[in-house]
Amino acid sequence: MALELHGRPLGPLQANCYILVEPDRKQALVIDPGAPDPWLWEQIEGLQVQAIVLTHAHFDHIGAVGPLRERTGAPVLIHEAEADWLSDPRLNGSARWAEFVGLVTAPPPDGNLEPGGSLTFAGKRIEIRHTPGHSPGGVSLILDSLCFSGDTLFYRSIGRTDLPGGDHALLLASIQRQLLTLPDDMTVLPGHGPSTTIGEEKRFNPFLDGWTPD
Ligand SMILES: [Zn+2]
Ligand SMILES: [Zn+2]
Repeated sequence: MALELHGRPLGPLQANCYILVEPDRKQALVIDPGAPDPWLWEQIEGLQVQAIVLTHAHFDHIGAVGPLRERTGAPVLIHEAEADWLSDPRLNGSARWAEFVGLVTAPPPDGNLEPGGSLTFAGKRIEIRHTPGHSPGGVSLILDSLCFSGDTLFYRSIGRTDLPGGDHALLLASIQRQLLTLPDDMTVLPGHGPSTTIGEEKRFNPFLDGWTPD
């Protein structure tokens, strides 16, 4: 049985939440639950959530981590560089926009996303690539022909680097080494905005001008 993929922007900053579902086994994996939206609860109704996986710990990607973990008992996984950010509004950015979004916190993670390692969901391998630059613990997740790129690479854009731990040169290096080396026809599912492909971004992304293959 093929996996289903559901996605929707959630919360005031419209961060894309993605949910992988294996309908026969009634299993789900949730990526970046940004806000406790009714849609999220509908999607996981009757399913066993295996893990809550975070591309990074900015407040717009973690707003529903606490309630989702409480409801499902699923482990929260993130790169260790941002393990402390979940409970710290200053690090996760919510303190800066507190009057707009409130102080966002989530429980500490249950496990690390190890760069070069992988997760298994419904018998499929999800590769973990470290793509820092937007934030130090940013990761991208590769599953078959899908790349969940977090706030690293967007449709015709790239992540901002003016937040704590941001590094523009590092972001470009991450994109070039970890993402643009993926197959051109791979679908990119970013943390904000529409999906794209690796090949399209190589050709049309104005922030990646001058990229040449090794
Ligand atoms: Zn974001
Ligand atoms: Zn972010």
